[in-house]
Amino acid sequence: MWITNGGVANWYFVLARTDLDPKAPANKAFTGFIVDADTPGLTPGRKELNMGQKASDTRGITFDDVRVPKENVLIGEGQGFKIVMSTFDISRPSFAAGAVGFAQRAMDEVAKYSLERKAFGVPIAHHQAVAFMLADMAIGIEAARLTYMKAAFEVDQGRRNSYYASITKAHAADVANKCATDAVQIFGGNGFNTEYPVEKLMRDAKIYQIYEGTSEIQRIMISRAIINNAKQNV
Ligand SMILES: Cc1cc2nc3c(=O)[nH]c(=O)nc-3n(C[C@H](O)[C@H](O)[C@H](O)COP(=O)(O)OP(=O)(O)OC[C@H]3O[C@@H](n4cnc5c(N)ncnc54)[C@H](O)[C@@H]3O)c2cc1C
Repeated sequence: MWITNGGVANWYFVLARTDLDPKAPANKAFTGFIVDADTPGLTPGRKELNMGQKASDTRGITFDDVRVPKENVLIGEGQGFKIVMSTFDISRPSFAAGAVGFAQRAMDEVAKYSLERKAFGVPIAHHQAVAFMLADMAIGIEAARLTYMKAAFEVDQGRRNSYYASITKAHAADVANKCATDAVQIFGGNGFNTEYPVEKLMRDAKIYQIYEGTSEIQRIMISRAIINNAKQNV
């Protein structure tokens, strides 16, 4: 379910459980396969109607007695989980960068609008409550930008970056959502209307806390890393 570009892909990466023992450890139980979209039995579903990021093609894919040639096994049997986790180390900083882009757009829209819109005789930017929301947006954006750069820097150094990848994914997703929600607030009634750009940003931002591992899963990864590190120092 929820496969981005599911309707246009020529090839799919499929992670399948190949060890049926439910007690088998995750890092041995799954195998990664490359599956040709034309394989008999493989059927992409309808384009899903999502809350935001509507231009993205997201589908369920059905597999019915699909046969995959041996040479399409990635790396080796039981290696799938490691492939996925090491891919997340690279992809999560990129998703965080996307979330920062959303947040920046929300702030840019607010900066412009809050100078145009007047309430109680002054541009709303001059009301401290509005100005402080703008300041908080900038604080979040600048900090989130540094976290994805740090996570990407660790990749460039050839070091394992799962901890930083989860931190930046969770943080940037939260920043994007806070900025988009506050942007709607600052636009007032106009913010709730589709004639203005920020309601779309709010709908588009939400998915950053869900795909590529939810914010809860990122926090599990981060807290596990801290605890494992503490155990080694006991
Ligand atoms: C638009 C879109 C595009 C996507 N694209 C892709 C894609 O291209 N490829 C792909 O493989 N997947 C894709 N996904 C799937 C996405 O990664 C999952 O939806 C996401 O990881 C959450 O899994 P789930 O939907 O099964 O939610 P669930 O696992 O059912 O989670 C439901 C809630 O429970 C929480 N939860 C679950 N387990 C725990 C736990 N152990 N501890 C604490 N909280 C927990 C979650 O954080 C969440 O809040 C996409 C999803 C969407 C909506």
